[in-house]
Amino acid sequence: MRVLVVGSGGREHALAWAISASPLVDRLFCAPGNAGIAEEAECVAIGATDIKGLVQFCRGERIDFVVVGPEAPLVLGLVDALEAEGIAAFGPSAAASAIEASKAFAKDLCVRAQIPTAAHRRFRDPAAAKAFIASHGAPIVVKADGLAAGKGVVVADDLASAYRAVDAALVERRFSAAGLEIVVEDFLAGEEASFFALVDGKDALPLASAQDYKRVGNGDLGPNTGGMGALSPSPLLTAPVEGMVMERIILPAIAAMHREGRVFKGVLYAGLMLTEAGPMLLEFNARFGDPECQVLMMRLMSDLLPALIAAHDGVLKSVDLRWHADTALCVVMAAKGYPDEFQRGSEIRGLDAATSDPKVKVFHAGTRRADERLIADGGRVLGVTALDRDIRRASDRAYAAVDRIQWSEGFCRRDIGRRALQN
Ligand code: AMP
Repeated sequence: MRVLVVGSGGREHALAWAISASPLVDRLFCAPGNAGIAEEAECVAIGATDIKGLVQFCRGERIDFVVVGPEAPLVLGLVDALEAEGIAAFGPSAAASAIEASKAFAKDLCVRAQIPTAAHRRFRDPAAAKAFIASHGAPIVVKADGLAAGKGVVVADDLASAYRAVDAALVERRFSAAGLEIVVEDFLAGEEASFFALVDGKDALPLASAQDYKRVGNGDLGPNTGGMGALSPSPLLTAPVEGMVMERIILPAIAAMHREGRVFKGVLYAGLMLTEAGPMLLEFNARFGDPECQVLMMRLMSDLLPALIAAHDGVLKSVDLRWHADTALCVVMAAKGYPDEFQRGSEIRGLDAATSDPKVKVFHAGTRRADERLIADGGRVLGVTALDRDIRRASDRAYAAVDRIQWSEGFCRRDIGRRALQN
């Protein structure tokens, strides 16, 4: 088969790495890819949201199967455009991607499908939103409706910060069109975890659980990022809780999407709050998480590609995936300054030493090559991922590899996995 992976981050490196190991693959391409992906696939200089360019490339290269990593091309209709040309693609249609692209849609879907989630109200008018918030009281959560790169959610401890969040979206229009509507919802207390399932429109195959680390600093301090680390499995998601997540959240969501003519195929990612009343949904995503994908791929023993094809073909029932029981842990190395201003262009050395451990894989996010040198070319740059028997060993192994990497312009959190160890 001739396969194309779309995207350029650590998630796509992990997908390309897993897919490149499939005996089904003759040629593997990635658009646009990065320096690490170039070791697994042939990178082509087409942007992930250049729908026309991607379709044209697939036609020209007679691509048999496309795997879409990020949400942006899904929401722009890449899968619809490819399927219209008879090119098979893994990922939801634009209509089904609304489960991620609109929090208001996702929340209303939860109400219709009786999926446990925080009670919510939708607002376009700032005065009405503030009046509701005043009557409700704090803590309370304010969310921009659309895709806001992880910056659209404010958990407000007091009324003043909730009002500021309303103004940021509805008055200052800080999220442009993505913030013309907001969702205001109850604050949920508990521990967070993520759960991933492959979905073929009707059936779901549970993948594995993960925990991610969104804040930039040790001890979960500082601003939110795309993700500074991850761990799988999540020790919080025991088998009975996973059963509840499938029964109460994943399967009802798939059935509701099907009923409403938005048949969902792809990865359904449930961000969860594990409360005293059981798991509750925080948000749905329509793709693998980044860096959760890196830890999932590290634990996957089976061939990924036939499972993705089965999800596309609607025959997931026939698929069984095997996972390492070991823990995978990923430490993200980012450019100093991230998630705010950061510099590109510094040199990274020592990667060979870091990967001399066969249980370590370094997934690239923002990297490029200049001559033979490896150059940092993004905010999140590397995902140093290790597999070992338990969290402590996986963490020691990952940080030993991190310490072999020479990159004075980079930083990472030093506590990935540590909170889970305390639980
Ligand atoms: P979301 O993008 O909806 O997953 O929200 C981002 C983050 O905000 C989550 O990972 C939680 O840490 C927090 N959050 C979102 N909704 C709530 C809620 N209802 N109660 C408490 N925290 C929340």
